[in-house]
Amino acid sequence: MSSGGPMFTGDYMPDLRMIIPDADRVIPGDRIEKKFLSDGLERRTGRADALVFPVSTAEVKKLLSYSEERNIPVTARSGGTNLTGSTVPLTGGLIVDFSRMNRLLEIDRETLTAVVEPGMVLQDFQRVLEAQGLFYPPDPGEKTATLGGNIATNAGGMRAVKYGVTRDYVRGLEVVIPGGTVLNFGGKTAKDASGLSLKNLIIGSEGTLGLITKCILKLLPLPRENAGAVAAFPSLDAGIAAVNKIIMTATDPTAIEFLEQAVVELGEAYTGLPFPLSGGAAYLLLSYHGESKTDIRSRLALAEEAARSAGAGQFMVIGDPETFNRVWQVRGCLVKAVEAVSEQEPVDIVVPINRIGDFIAHVHGLEKESGIAMVAFGHAGDGNVHLCVMREKRSAPAWEAELKRVMTTMCRTITGMGGLVSGEHGIGISKQSYYLENTPPENLALMRRIKGAFDPKNLLNPGKSYQDPALTSLPAPG
Ligand SMILES: Cc1cc2nc3c(=O)[nH]c(=O)nc-3n(C[C@H](O)[C@H](O)[C@H](O)COP(=O)(O)OP(=O)(O)OC[C@H]3O[C@@H](n4cnc5c(N)ncnc54)[C@H](O)[C@@H]3O)c2cc1C
Repeated sequence: MSSGGPMFTGDYMPDLRMIIPDADRVIPGDRIEKKFLSDGLERRTGRADALVFPVSTAEVKKLLSYSEERNIPVTARSGGTNLTGSTVPLTGGLIVDFSRMNRLLEIDRETLTAVVEPGMVLQDFQRVLEAQGLFYPPDPGEKTATLGGNIATNAGGMRAVKYGVTRDYVRGLEVVIPGGTVLNFGGKTAKDASGLSLKNLIIGSEGTLGLITKCILKLLPLPRENAGAVAAFPSLDAGIAAVNKIIMTATDPTAIEFLEQAVVELGEAYTGLPFPLSGGAAYLLLSYHGESKTDIRSRLALAEEAARSAGAGQFMVIGDPETFNRVWQVRGCLVKAVEAVSEQEPVDIVVPINRIGDFIAHVHGLEKESGIAMVAFGHAGDGNVHLCVMREKRSAPAWEAELKRVMTTMCRTITGMGGLVSGEHGIGISKQSYYLENTPPENLALMRRIKGAFDPKNLLNPGKSYQDPALTSLPAPG
């Protein structure tokens, strides 16, 4: 897909090479690999005039000063794993890729914070911390994503039930805004009641307000013990009913995920790993962090009681790391497992947790009525259901039309339930029409005024998410 935005005919490669001295960090438009023009799914592709890899705030500052002077649009990317098209450059211009700005600058044990550059990969960060007895809880499924990308999408993941999402672990940010001004929001303090929270505007802004060049993140001590359990239920309704009962035990689970039998089979086929239980219509996967083995055992005993009172036929505690990893590998691969059998549209609708059952019933109804297969699984503990809407053998035009129809119906329905179009992946371009339709116009107008205050020339990721998709036209290039 490419937009009808203006072409930038001016040859600004010589200027870019002055800003970024290393030849391998400035790639001209005709030599940009497809993956840099796309997202984690690589289905939509845009176009860009140059791809640059800055390695310092000073370079990002110069790039944004130059882009404003010449009216050049900028698409930021870090790991490129987003599922929404938010790194697809719609209007040409520059791709600013942060993957080489990836240093861990400081671990401060006294304030329990770390200072990192945005391109640091999440799993590298987690490994370094764990070796030092420290812990960074946000844990979205794709571990090759970066900390900067996680912040720009407010990534969630499986441990959100107990620990919250990325936003809850961002203490401070260094951000460069259009024109090249470098700003610092927040810091190492645990609290901040000082003025408007500009930091929180940047979190989840999908590269539309400013470019993140440094992140101060909150850490925790590494939990001493962890263990999990799998519970099998005769129906999905029984499994969903168990979620609230488990939460009400006050055992503080780290994760509560649900899977239907058909999804488990896809995961087993993809990984070649057996799931430890069979014979259920649906399963809940639980994990716990705790102080000691005894502490975890007592939490699991209460969780078992709650699950069985909701109808669980089997409840298996998983203490050994090998089985624990196997189960979470089956759960963790599900997007890729579905993708291996059919192109699919990933959906991350979130509803209030007491409406998950209603949402799944609606999805099953839509499946029957439309004939489109939809695989549901996900974060039962926080209401963030993941759906893979499957294309199977449909032609491109039929798929586009049918997908649009079922998504429109689904998004209207969940809005009526008090739900939201995205719980953690963001809006980008793939969910934009549903988000715009289901968001009050007053909210959108305010967001667009905020965008105008950060980026008056509309240069950063123009036309995406809350913006008007028709407004991708820009001032004439200088
Ligand atoms: C298999 C799979 C499973 C996934 N599971 C989850 C999950 O469980 N939970 C979840 O939340 N997500 C999940 N995701 C989605 C994805 O991994 C997240 O959205 C992730 O946070 C994106 O990080 P990234 O580094 O890849 O960012 P990118 O894809 O590079 O960019 C994402 C957005 O951030 C902006 N951006 C990037 N860097 C900067 C910067 N320095 N400054 C300003 N803006 C910037 C981009 O413009 C873009 O809008 C999954 C993806 C895959 C492929």
